[in-house]
Amino acid sequence: MIPGTMMDDCPLTLTALFARGGTFFARNDIVTRRLDGSVHRYAYGDYWRRVRRLANALSRLGVKSGDRVATLCWNHYRHFEAYAAVPAAGGILHTLNLRLHPTDLGYIANHAGDSVLIVDSSLLPLYERFKGAAGGIREVIVIADDEPAPQGCRDYEALLEAESDVFDGPPIDERQGAAMCYTSGTTGRPKGVVYSHRSTVLHTLAACMTDSLGICENDRILVVVPMFHANAWGIPFCAAMTGASLIFPERDLRPEPLLDLMAAERLTVAAGVPTIWGGILAALDENPGRWDLSALRTTIVGGSAVPQAMIDRFEQRHGVRVVQAWGMTETNPLGTLSRVKRHMQGWSRERRLEARATQGYAVPFVDTRHVDDAGRVLAWDGKSLGELEVRGPWVAGRYYDNDEQQDRFTPDGWFKTGDIVAIDAEGCVRIADRAKDVIKSGGEWISSVELENALMAHPLVREAAVFAGRHPKWDERPLAAVVLKAGETPAKEELTRYLAPKFAKFWLPDDYLFLDELPKTSVGKFKKSALREKYGDLLLG
Ligand code: ADP
Repeated sequence: MIPGTMMDDCPLTLTALFARGGTFFARNDIVTRRLDGSVHRYAYGDYWRRVRRLANALSRLGVKSGDRVATLCWNHYRHFEAYAAVPAAGGILHTLNLRLHPTDLGYIANHAGDSVLIVDSSLLPLYERFKGAAGGIREVIVIADDEPAPQGCRDYEALLEAESDVFDGPPIDERQGAAMCYTSGTTGRPKGVVYSHRSTVLHTLAACMTDSLGICENDRILVVVPMFHANAWGIPFCAAMTGASLIFPERDLRPEPLLDLMAAERLTVAAGVPTIWGGILAALDENPGRWDLSALRTTIVGGSAVPQAMIDRFEQRHGVRVVQAWGMTETNPLGTLSRVKRHMQGWSRERRLEARATQGYAVPFVDTRHVDDAGRVLAWDGKSLGELEVRGPWVAGRYYDNDEQQDRFTPDGWFKTGDIVAIDAEGCVRIADRAKDVIKSGGEWISSVELENALMAHPLVREAAVFAGRHPKWDERPLAAVVLKAGETPAKEELTRYLAPKFAKFWLPDDYLFLDELPKTSVGKFKKSALREKYGDLLLG
């Protein structure tokens, strides 16, 4: 082998990535809209100065290479400061999911070995509830706007005030941990993943590509996805590297205030889960012409399946383009993206829409395959269903300090996602279900995702989740939980008539439940386990 003659040892670090935003795009703004409606706005130059102060403060508090620094914060500029400062000081940013139960938070903070916590004052009562289980936390830094930090805690602003703008950080190895996240633990105990500097930098480069999220300096991006959920899908890193402006809604995720922000700040990109976008779509439908979204070039929707009807309505009625993304906490998170390829431009509108409603094909350096129960790799025929496996430089190769889940990693180096999918000849992945949500009726698969997407296209349906009901003869049969738009209630037969032309007869739900709202997980996905628990025995009589 003749080795390359390049500087292959130049480390890919987050510090370099953040320095770029702070240095080259010092004038670009970062905006936070607080709960009371007031707006905090400053520029990347100020941001970067404060990041260096925070990194100094963390070092002074004893944060060393590999120390875990937890955050318990909403989406705002100071949380974004921690995103940069903790890894710069050599630490690992551990974003705690504030929607989890205190028992889980205690377990996670303890398992991760968090030693410092940065917390919003509004979330101190939550911290009080798991503090006992997270005894390793020796320093608590409180982000408080008006009131002083409580006794025994440090005040975030006071800490920054005392520090210098010059930060001479420790050397960083690109393979060392920079950030960590836990899965929400819908099956078993939450599991942790540690993202290295290298994996996050590579993920950022791939995510920014024009054919991925296409993020560039001109963008103004609304971060609806929580910053504790897979690093807000990596968007803060994309923004810092390119100098794109970030707009944080703090904690107010109601559709109308979000739309006000999107219009007022001339946003170009927004990212969030389908349930948020469903609310936004309804608000736009109810108030035509109220918001000027002409600057918005794309919305990135992922985290659970995006109904085809949603993609269609956004585009047809409001001129808003939806790009669906698939990913997991374990994939940093971007894995696949749904983009119309060049040769698909000539397809009929309907066929193109169908392609966009799949989870799309892999971003560069992520490999996809799907396997049957016996572990045989399946053909990309668009029909064969099997478990999706992925591998790549930003896919977890193991969980943090966890021996129980090693069966999620195959001996030949792939990660088993737990998603049941078909892959077509274009390489486009179509998710039929998560393995734990699968409905098997008389031994045959029924895709809950396809049924609920079809139901959500019905004009009177706002949200629908299809789940397995236990059945004396067929083991399981599909049940549909439906939230209707205000006004008329369709007969159950009407919904069956609507679905009938699109599906085999045995796929049609045995019954419908009309609910005021659907149970959601901590990141806003339908919580089918809760539906199964409550209504799963309905058909047993
Ligand atoms: P949680 O397990 O708490 O939901 P993750 O964010 O890691 O946390 O969830 C990853 C899962 O979300 C994937 O395995 C998949 O089931 C689902 N998912 C993510 N994006 C999509 C998408 N575009 N379409 C369908 N399912 C998706």
